[in-house]
Amino acid sequence: MKNNFFLDSLIEENCCGCQACVLVCPTNCIKMIENKRGFSYPERDMIKCIDCGKCERVCPIINKEKIDYLPDSELPKGYKAIYNDETVLLKSASGGAFSGIVEAFCDENYVIFGVQFDKDFYALHSYVEDKKEIGKYKKSKYLQSDVNKAYQEVEEFLKDNKKVLFSGTPCQVAALRLYLSKDYDNLLCVDLVCRGVPSYKTFKDYLLYLQKKHNEPIKDFSFREKIFKNPGFWNSRNISYRVKDKTIILDNIEDKYLKGFHKSLFYRPSCYECQFANEKRISDITMADFWGCSKYFPNDNVHKGVSALLINSKKGLNILEHLNEYMQMEQTSPFAIIDNNSQLRNPTYKHPKYEAFFSYIDRGLAFDKAVDRCIPTLPIFLRKVVNRIIPLKIKQNLLKLKKGFDKK
Ligand SMILES: Cc1cc2nc3c(=O)[nH]c(=O)nc-3n(C[C@H](O)[C@H](O)[C@H](O)COP(=O)(O)OP(=O)(O)OC[C@H]3O[C@@H](n4cnc5c(N)ncnc54)[C@H](O)[C@@H]3O)c2cc1C
Repeated sequence: MKNNFFLDSLIEENCCGCQACVLVCPTNCIKMIENKRGFSYPERDMIKCIDCGKCERVCPIINKEKIDYLPDSELPKGYKAIYNDETVLLKSASGGAFSGIVEAFCDENYVIFGVQFDKDFYALHSYVEDKKEIGKYKKSKYLQSDVNKAYQEVEEFLKDNKKVLFSGTPCQVAALRLYLSKDYDNLLCVDLVCRGVPSYKTFKDYLLYLQKKHNEPIKDFSFREKIFKNPGFWNSRNISYRVKDKTIILDNIEDKYLKGFHKSLFYRPSCYECQFANEKRISDITMADFWGCSKYFPNDNVHKGVSALLINSKKGLNILEHLNEYMQMEQTSPFAIIDNNSQLRNPTYKHPKYEAFFSYIDRGLAFDKAVDRCIPTLPIFLRKVVNRIIPLKIKQNLLKLKKGFDKK
């Protein structure tokens, strides 16, 4: 027994919810069971279990070293990347890296896996066989996706000689590679830098609060709505939704879910100990927001979104030249990307009010109130006054201090 294998230890931090153990089990004796916070964990029926050990072999938490790439002096390579077509760029979470990779990889006989919302805003993995249909995968869904039968489907397509592009969180990509147990030339794995995933239950509690607030159903909800307040300044830390015929856009202070998400208030327990949150990547290409890009490219126009790419493998390198056809690509040091994105150095910190948040919810407190009790903020009018009276330089220094404090 390995102490940190979830099915033996039952320690929540040891399970990232990737579902690989469920999908690999030859007797279907493992099922995902949701706890009251909405996080699902595998449960094994010991009567049906034949002790084949497959579940243990595919667990990304205990087998990461099996899929780490061998050290290569050429890799990783770092790039700044912006999608050429502005309509696509504006619909993308960041700089449109995902669309660029799709175009560069998918010529013919291909399948693309990504995460979409269904009609109830449940996030799930699915696939398309026509790249014109990737619109539903665009924009981040800030909650854990259900991988469904994705790993099994990927394997079938690969064996059928289709080119497969799989995108997901780092733990999902790791799980897929372990599930497949061998490398396929026709598979390209793309992960996104991930700070953590809340449960669908938490997201539903939030949607319920929105619905009650407006007394109307919420339509067309999306994360990462880009807004352009000042020239040269872009911000995509916003949500957008429609009630009746009105579109509402809120930023990460006004919106209660974003406020909790960005302060790491309600992620899956394993996210706070994520072993994929570092520079040793397990996918062919890693996509991220290129925070701090202007420091390295001061004269470039990056205000409609800019992605950072880490090319981590030979397969990733092979599609680099095609990427140039669809994106403005400029090479940069991988450290420029890693230094500016804390998720590429260490897992996120757990908010000190994590337990308090869930106990407020258990006691029936509404989602918005639970978030506000855990993360108090000044009322909007006071924030505007403070914004006007404190000089910009002092605000910037305070922000730096706060960022330093947040990282601790
Ligand atoms: C849960 C989560 C946490 C994130 N945390 C960070 C972070 O800490 N730092 C950072 O730089 N960027 C973070 N991102 C954003 C990520 O960097 C961008 O989505 C990525 O750079 C792609 O940008 P794009 O413009 O190519 O996106 P788009 O063209 O909009 O494509 C979005 C891509 O994200 C995938 N996706 C969407 N939701 C999910 C999900 N729930 N699970 C798995 N895959 C999903 C889609 O399948 C698609 O491949 C996070 C995204 C998610 C979903």
